[in-house]
This record gives sequence, structure tokens and C-alpha cells, in this order.
Amino acid sequence: MTDLTKLTLAEARDGLVAKKFSATELTQAFIKAIDAANPHLNAYVLMTPEHALAQAKTSDERLAKGEARPLEGLPIGNKDLFCTYGIRTTACSRILDDFKPRYEATVGQNLWDAGAVMLGKLNNDEFAMGSSNETSAFGPVVNPWRRTRGGKVDNTKLVPGGSSGGSSAAVSANLCLGATATDTGGSIRQPAALTGTVGIKPTYGRCSRWGIVAFASSLDQAGPIAKTVRDSAIMLRHMAGYDPKDSTCVDMPVPDYEAEVARGVKGLRVGVPKEYRVDGMSAEVDALWQKGIAWLKDAGATIHDISLPHTKYALPAYYIVAPAECSSNLARYDGVRYGLRVPGKDLIDTYEATREAGFGKEVKRRVLIGTYVLSAGYYDAYYLKAQKVRTLIKRDFDNAWSDVDVVLTPTTPSPAFGFGEKAGDPIAMYLEDIFTVTVNMAGLPGISVPAGLSGEGTPMGLQLIGKPFDEGTLFRAAQVIENAAGRFPVPSKWWA
Ligand code: GLN
Repeated sequence: MTDLTKLTLAEARDGLVAKKFSATELTQAFIKAIDAANPHLNAYVLMTPEHALAQAKTSDERLAKGEARPLEGLPIGNKDLFCTYGIRTTACSRILDDFKPRYEATVGQNLWDAGAVMLGKLNNDEFAMGSSNETSAFGPVVNPWRRTRGGKVDNTKLVPGGSSGGSSAAVSANLCLGATATDTGGSIRQPAALTGTVGIKPTYGRCSRWGIVAFASSLDQAGPIAKTVRDSAIMLRHMAGYDPKDSTCVDMPVPDYEAEVARGVKGLRVGVPKEYRVDGMSAEVDALWQKGIAWLKDAGATIHDISLPHTKYALPAYYIVAPAECSSNLARYDGVRYGLRVPGKDLIDTYEATREAGFGKEVKRRVLIGTYVLSAGYYDAYYLKAQKVRTLIKRDFDNAWSDVDVVLTPTTPSPAFGFGEKAGDPIAMYLEDIFTVTVNMAGLPGISVPAGLSGEGTPMGLQLIGKPFDEGTLFRAAQVIENAAGRFPVPSKWWA
């Protein structure tokens, strides 16, 4: 039999319905692949093979009866930020230790109700804070891609992006058909760009945040990382939807996104914002951007220069708003209610000892910044100001939508970097988010689609930004880019 792990999610779905293989065979193929790769890549922090095979068995019974649900028997990975009933959920922080939730995140539940199979929990930056997956308490994830230098493969370990680095690496290495992920400032799109996968952050409110470990509640959104645009459309369709348990989740019908992908871009107005041509942008990234513009034009779109004048304030404002919300969300980890507890001589001492031992360096940095910008003397100067900037960023986009339907930008300023190259310099790391944070600040949908390889043979992505709740247009335009760029070669299995 051919290697089933190489199939796209859509191909696997069709193969199961056509009875070319069973859900159990498909699941076993992934379990085997994970067993071989995970000691090298560290993409999964918990494998749940028994759970997966039990779900696959149910799927095979339903397939036999002709009662297949939309994702029947399709094995996926679940980011460890999503609570899973009775299954360890840690947000990759020591502070959650051996936490076993008594509830399932709505997004996960939607997927299981649609028939999907969970292979395990995927690694991420601690509490989703990071851009390289190097802040995880379970250690870093290795990008399956390697650089080529001077005609030779260079063995430097590259980061898979973050915070959804386990999700991006697992999809890219064929260790699942697709994965859940979350995006507060770029954590779906940036890892997708660095691993040659497709990642979409939907409009704020499209997916329920219920049961997702909170980082910055006004920015956090769930979405998929998948191998193709079509696969991401299929997954989002079954992750999204109204949930009364999340008051920010919007009661709107979820369209059949898969029907959008083949519609093309004839007559679509594409905006190219001049402010994204940032100082020091590499010629390679700029060339990729120009290629994307040409592809969309060739497919019948019209291209328009636009201005989003407040773009340059987005990153500093994000690094005030996100830490502020993080500091208040993380106040609940007190050693009493969840996970780790380091007993002290009194209650305050217990809080301090628990948080000292339980949080990593980056999380502590954010809690300190967040507490500072929310404190009485500084609230107006920092937090309130950042919120005002946020409104201006949103207004820039609102104005742009009268002239264009979608905005095209690069996803990241550079391709995948090596372990440790940015970890010691928080500012360099924060700059990874320069093209993605505006989208979260404005609550808009954004997709990253693989568009080419760097001179060193590593993937690079283009980002499309859409109007609120217009994910459908993103899938249409992303499919045109995917077609023009051609399917990426899968990274060689150097770990096998
Ligand atoms: N890299 C950004 C941060 O560290 C975004 C993370 C995310 O989207 N979860 O905050």
C-alpha cells in the first residue's frame, strides 16, 4: 500500500468513503509515523494512540453503514492549548503540570462530532507566547525542513515558528492530516509560513474560545494548519460556529468554505499596502510579494496600492495589549486551582513559589510588562493609549475596504531561523510578528499560503487579509496562489 500519511485531508476523506483503506489503517499509519519521527521533531507532547484507535473503530463502523460524518476517520493533531476531557492539557507550561480538564474545548468537540480522530496533543510555546516554539516546557520543536547551503544540506536545526510550532511541524512532516492551532498575534500564520503549510486565523468571533487556555482574550482565535488550501477550508468549516458558552462568539452561519476554493479571483480587488514594505525587508521577501501580485493579476484580479498609515504602531501596541491581558488571565495560576503547587510558609509564599517554579522566562517577562502597563500610574500612558492605537489600526482597514476586497502582504520578514538565533533577543523575536499582529488588533481574518522557497530551500509564505467574516474570499485567493506556486516538495524524512 502507498504511504497513507502523504495524502491530503481531502484525498484521505475520499479514499475512506471509496473504501480504499479503513480509518483504522489510516490511523495506524500515522501512529507509526509519529513513533518514528517524534523523538527527532518533538512535535507531539502527548500521543493518544488508544484514544485514536477507538475513534477510528467507530468511524469504520459508520463508514460501513454509509453513515459517514464530514470528517469521518480523519486523524488530526490537537494543540496543547485546547482542553481535552480527561486528557492532559498543559499549554506547555510546568504550571499546569498534570492538569486533566473536565471539559472539552468547543472547537475540539466540533471536530470530534464531525468524525475526526485525535492522534495526540501538539507542542507549542508556553501559553502560546513566542514565535519559535522555544519557550515550551517540553522543549523546542524541530522544523522538518533544512537549509541548503553551498549545494549541501545544512544540519542546523531550524525553528518551525510559533506558537503553534507542533502543529506546523506535524502537518509538514505528515504526522497528521491537519492540526488545530491558535493565533493571538500570528501563531497560526507565521508557523505555517515557516513550514510550507497553510494556516488561517479566522475573524475574531468565528470560532469559540471556550476551553482554549487563554492568553490575550481580545486577540486569541482558533484556526487550522493544513497541507493545502482546500484542507484548511474543510477543517475551518467544522471548527467554526456559534457557541453560547463564549460571549464573543458570533451567531452567524458558517459557509461551505470548500465550495469557495475553486471560484477564482476574476474581478477581485487586491490591495498592496505600502507600509508593509518595511525597512530592511530582504530582496527575497520582496520578490516573493511581487510574484504573488503577478499571480493574482494573471488570474483576473485588479491590483491597487493602498495605505494603512498606522501600521508602524501595531507591533508596539500589541506588545502592550497582549501582555496586559496575559497578566490578568494568568493570575488564576495560583497553585490552588490547577496543576502545580509548591507549598510555602503561607498563602502568599505559596503563590510566589508556585509561580516562580511554574512559569518560564518569557511568560514571566509578559506578566511583569502586563502588570506594569495596567498599574494605576501607567494605565493611561500605556494600556489606554495602546487601545486607541488599536482603534486607529482597525479604522485603516475599514477605510481600505471601500477600495479593495482583500490585502496581500508577506507573512514573515524572513524564512525559518536556527535554534537560539533569536531566543536571546526578545525584540528580534517580537519583530517576527510585524506583518501578522495588525490582523489580530483589527479582529480580521488572515491566511498564510506557501508561495515559494528561499535561496536556501526553505519555505516562505504570503498572507492574505480579508474583511470581517469574509474567510471565503481568502480561500479563493489563496487557492490561486497555491496553484501558481505549485505543491511544495515534502521535506525529506531525514529522521527515518
Ligand atoms: N509571537 C506572538 C507572541 O509571542 C504571537 C503569539 C500568538 O499568536 N499566540 O505574542
